[in-house]
Amino acid sequence: MTAKTRVFFLLSLLLITVIGTSHISTKIWGGKPEKLPNDIELVLSPEMSLKEFGQKNNLPNLVLKKVFQLQQKQDLQKKLSETGIALADIERKIKKAAALEEEHQSKNWIKIPLKFGLWFLFLGVCFYRIRKGKIGSRTRKILYLVAVLLFGVILGADPGPMGTIKDAIALYGAQGVIFPPRLVAMIVFLLLVLLANKFICGWGCQLGTLQDLIFRLNRNKQDSKGILPQFKPPFIVTNTLRIIFFFAFTLVAFAWAADIIDPVDPFKIFKPAMIKPLGWGFILGILLLSLFIYRPWCHCFCPFGLAGWFVEKISIFKVQVNYDTCVACQACTKACPSTAMEAILKKEKTIPDCFSCGSCIDVCPTGSVQFRAGQREKPPAGKFYIAKGEEDRDNALR
Ligand code: SF4
Ligand code: SF4
Repeated sequence: MTAKTRVFFLLSLLLITVIGTSHISTKIWGGKPEKLPNDIELVLSPEMSLKEFGQKNNLPNLVLKKVFQLQQKQDLQKKLSETGIALADIERKIKKAAALEEEHQSKNWIKIPLKFGLWFLFLGVCFYRIRKGKIGSRTRKILYLVAVLLFGVILGADPGPMGTIKDAIALYGAQGVIFPPRLVAMIVFLLLVLLANKFICGWGCQLGTLQDLIFRLNRNKQDSKGILPQFKPPFIVTNTLRIIFFFAFTLVAFAWAADIIDPVDPFKIFKPAMIKPLGWGFILGILLLSLFIYRPWCHCFCPFGLAGWFVEKISIFKVQVNYDTCVACQACTKACPSTAMEAILKKEKTIPDCFSCGSCIDVCPTGSVQFRAGQREKPPAGKFYIAKGEEDRDNALR
């Protein structure tokens, strides 16, 4: 088998394994699908008792209790007109409370804390290894595979970093409510970005690590270049696309109460029974593209990727260069799967997403690239660019 054929063979094997085992895993976990709550049409009249109102509209007692602040069972005999709340307000409040209750019911409250616990543990191990410079190309692939299997196949598509932002916007746009546990999860994920530059995306996100693993299947043994050609699209192009996509998604969520990501959501690769034909086309396209471009979903579409990119500007731990020992060989920029290291090394104004993969740390011959706390230094003048005058003199001497 040639190296190129091997890439496609491994990709097929990986996808069949992920899709097949995710199918089994979702069946074992069960649970309701996560989707926007239906917009219910309420039947109500001032003469109805609360009990009748609940029964007619199929509302759980918990929702009635929250909206009408019920203390005891007899309170259910009160008429809607006796609650002191206008019918229009009742309708609005009930819809919001029902949406929150539906969200609550759709979650698996055993899996979520378990997943967060394992995330902290796993990210802690990766963080330690990156700091010590102990992640080589083989270890990196093994860790990505573990992350895909653990946080995607076994523990499922939800929760995930992207879903916290996407679902929060979609639900607020459709029902005007915020689901508090989701807000907590979003804050935790963003704090992780703040602590260690996109570490959650780099090592914890089930879809991010899947794309990264696919990209690395198409790399040579040293993880320094592609077996099949690999490209680094300009960041201005991918980020512009990501911003436009984010605004389009938000606009549709608020104006039409619809979620345009849902039909093509690539996280559904971990709950394959929910994918429709359009979704299959898009998701498999993104995963195939991951062989040639580093994390196409993260760079071009992901709402959390965009939010994380803003937050990583002030991350505490990040990739940094020690210019005292750096010999300007630029091995790190070549090994970096995107244009991030080039911008970091030369301290350009706009630094693309860095997923803390550690490839740059791994290849530096002088150990000048590190994952540490503090501000990035500026390279000494002329270290990477020839000064204007010298460039002219260089040309004149030729
Ligand atoms: S940017 Fe990528 S890694 Fe981060 S949440 Fe989105 S899909 Fe996951
Ligand atoms: S700069 Fe590039 S190679 Fe280095 S950790 Fe970030 S993404 Fe990886």
